Amino acid sequence: MIAEKLHTIKSNLPQHVTLIAVSKTKPETAIMEAYRAGHRDFGENKVQEMTTKHENLPKDIKWHMIGHVQRNKVKYMAPFVHMIHGVDSLKLLKEIEKQAKKQDRVINCLLQMHIAKEESKFGLDEAELKELLASEAFNQMKHVRVKGLMGMATFTDKQEVIQSEFSYLNQLFESLKKDQKSWPQLSMEVLSMGMSGDYELAVTCGSTMVRIGSSIFGERNYQ
Ligand SMILES: *Cc1c(COP(=O)(O)O)cnc(C)c1O
Repeated sequence: MIAEKLHTIKSNLPQHVTLIAVSKTKPETAIMEAYRAGHRDFGENKVQEMTTKHENLPKDIKWHMIGHVQRNKVKYMAPFVHMIHGVDSLKLLKEIEKQAKKQDRVINCLLQMHIAKEESKFGLDEAELKELLASEAFNQMKHVRVKGLMGMATFTDKQEVIQSEFSYLNQLFESLKKDQKSWPQLSMEVLSMGMSGDYELAVTCGSTMVRIGSSIFGERNYQ
């Protein structure tokens, strides 16, 4: 079942788009089903859950932290995390730099931008992004690499709203890509946008990485 769904989604995605299978709340058996079908990129939104799964599962899995990260949890994932998608403050980035240095690693990060109308969604606005990039602390970092941007659209049926939010994020991504030579810490390759309900639209708006959970693993049950 999982293998078939993965296959169907992958065959509908352009070659340059990476699929992150979002396995949060799902058992390790489900991840292994996808793994045996050749899949390696998985997304989790809780550090504790991701760390436990990392310990129990094959070590060539690339773990993506897609949720909101508390600074005091960074140390637990610093030894193994492949990419942190939800970086939305300089404070958090400083902690990632510190923990990555301890591990003698460079950790891939995406800056999460606030593009939705909803108040509740995390992320930076454009002014905060510029401020972060201009800060001395950022410019001295050697153990983080900002690989791109991440964003979540408003939860709505209105396609034109979602499309305008994704297009806005894409413009921001492209403009930063043009200027990236000013920062050795920047290497703009990834635009992480699109989930089960909106990934096709996200891809038409320039997404290079989609994060899909329920369309692969089924609906989640939260207690
Ligand atoms: C849960 C989650 C997803 C996947 O959502 P689905 O609708 O199940 O595809 C994608 N991105 C983030 C940040 C998430 O928390």
